[in-house]
Amino acid sequence: MSKNLTKRSEDYSKWYNELVVKADLAENSGVRGCMVIKPYGYAIWEKMQAELDRMFKETGHQNAYFPLFVPKSMFEAEEKNAEGFAKECAIVTHYRLKTDPDNKGKLIVDPNAKLEEELIVRPTSEAIIWSTYKGWVQSYRDLPLLINQWANVVRWEMRTRLFLRTAEFLWQEGHTAHATQSEAITESVQMMNVYAEFAQNFMAMPVIKGFKTETERFAGAEETYCIEALMQDGKALQAGTSHFLGQNFAKAFDVKFANAEGKQEHVWGTSWGVSTRLMGALVMTHSDDNGLVLPPSLAPIQVVIVPIYKTEEQLETISAEVATLTAELKKRGIVVKYDNRTTHKPGFKFNEYELKGVPVRIAVGPKDLEEGTFEVARRDTLTKEVVLKGSIVNYVSDLLEQIQSDLFTKALNYRDAHITEVNSFEEFKEVLEHKTGFISAHWDGTAETEEQIKDLTKATIRCIPLDRKEEAGTCVFTGKPSVGRVLFAKAY
Ligand code: AMP
Repeated sequence: MSKNLTKRSEDYSKWYNELVVKADLAENSGVRGCMVIKPYGYAIWEKMQAELDRMFKETGHQNAYFPLFVPKSMFEAEEKNAEGFAKECAIVTHYRLKTDPDNKGKLIVDPNAKLEEELIVRPTSEAIIWSTYKGWVQSYRDLPLLINQWANVVRWEMRTRLFLRTAEFLWQEGHTAHATQSEAITESVQMMNVYAEFAQNFMAMPVIKGFKTETERFAGAEETYCIEALMQDGKALQAGTSHFLGQNFAKAFDVKFANAEGKQEHVWGTSWGVSTRLMGALVMTHSDDNGLVLPPSLAPIQVVIVPIYKTEEQLETISAEVATLTAELKKRGIVVKYDNRTTHKPGFKFNEYELKGVPVRIAVGPKDLEEGTFEVARRDTLTKEVVLKGSIVNYVSDLLEQIQSDLFTKALNYRDAHITEVNSFEEFKEVLEHKTGFISAHWDGTAETEEQIKDLTKATIRCIPLDRKEEAGTCVFTGKPSVGRVLFAKAY
C-alpha cells in the first residue's frame, strides 16, 4: 500500500485531509458539509463514547433522548440562544413531496403540505429539553436533574472540514437543572474537569482549562468553561465546552420549583458538550508523515501480529505460536489482531497498520520461531526490539502503557514550548508570524479590543485560564490596565 501522504511541513491542512481519508476514518459525502464516518473511524469514536459515558455515569448522570426537531416558537423562547444560532439553522417547512406534473420522474415540494409552524433541526437542544423539564420539576425534591443525550445536531456551517467542523455532527449534550446557583456552577466546573481528564488520560492530549470571554461565550450562557488544545501546526482547537446557564432557560420556559419553605423559585441550569471534533483533535495531536498515531487507550486495534513466511507449513507453525500469544494478550484485556491474510505481503500490511496508527506491531517469522523471539515495533517512535517469548506478554502490556504516557509527554512538551508571553503588540504579531501557538498577553477586558485584534491578526482569545495568576499589567493593544493575562491563538 502506497501512502503518498503530503508532508506536514509542506501543507498541514492537506496532510490532515488526506490522512483522514487514507486512514479510513471518514470521507466527504454527497451532502454538503456532511461526512461519512467509516468503520475504523467510528470504532475510535465508539471508544471515546464508552469512556465518556462511563465518566458521566460515575458523576451521577443518566442518558435520555429528545426530538430532533424544535418548533420555531419553542426555539425562540430563550432570545439570546435563538439569536446566536439563527444564522446557522436548517428549517423544515413542508412535510410532503409530489410528482412534478410538468416533469415526470421528478418530485416537487407539495405546496399544500406546508407546516403550520416551521420546525428547526436542533443545533443544540436546550429549548426542547427545558420545555420538557417544565413538566418534570415541581419541588426541590425533583432536583437535581442530571441528564445526558448522545445525538446528532445540525449547524449550517459555511466552511466545513472533516470532523473539525461539519454541518451535521455527532456529540453528547448534558443538560442539568439545580436548586441553587452554586450547585449549577459546581456542576459546570465538574464537567469541564471530566472533559480535561478524558482528553489527558485517554486522548493523551494536554488541555488548558479556562473560561470564555463574553464574545466567545455560548449564546444564552452566563459563563462558558472550556478546554483548549494546541495542534501540531500551532493552531488552537476548542475541544469541549461546559456552560453555566444561570436561570436563563428556566425563565424562558417557566421552570420553577417549590423550595423547602414552599416558595417558588426558578431552576438553575448547565449544559455541556463534546463532539466528533475530538476525532480531528486526536489526529492532529499525535499523527506524523507516515500516518495516524493513536494512543493505545483509544486504538481499535492495540497490537497487530503479522506472520512472515514462505511456505504454508511455516504459516501453520507460526499461527499455532500466535494463537497462544493472542490468548495471553487477550487475557490482559489487550485488543489484538492476527493478520494472516494470504492475499497481502507483510510489507503491505506493515504500511497499512502504520497508516492506521496501530500502536504496536509484532512480526514473527521462521527465524523467530527457531530462536524463541518476536520482533516488536512501536508506531509512535518507529523503533523495533527483539523480545524473548517468555517475556513478551509483560513486555507488550508495559509497552502500551509506556506509549500512552510518552504520547502525552511529547504533546505536553510541544504545547508548553508554544506558549509565549508577550508584552507588546509587535511581539504579538512576531509570534503569530514565526512560532504561532498560544500567546499569553494582557488585554483590557473589552470586546472592542478583542475584535480589533482579531481583525488585524485572526487571533482570538481562546480562554481566560482558570489558574492564571493575578498580575497587573497593560493591554498589549490599547495600553489600558489589565488584571491578568489571557491566551490568544489562531484557532480551528
Ligand atoms: P457548543 O454547543 O457550541 O458549546 O459546542 C459544543 C461542542 O461541539 C464544542 O466542543 C465544540 O467545539 C463542538 N462543535 C461546535 N460546532 C461544531 C461543528 N460544526 N462540528 C463539530 N464540532 C462542533
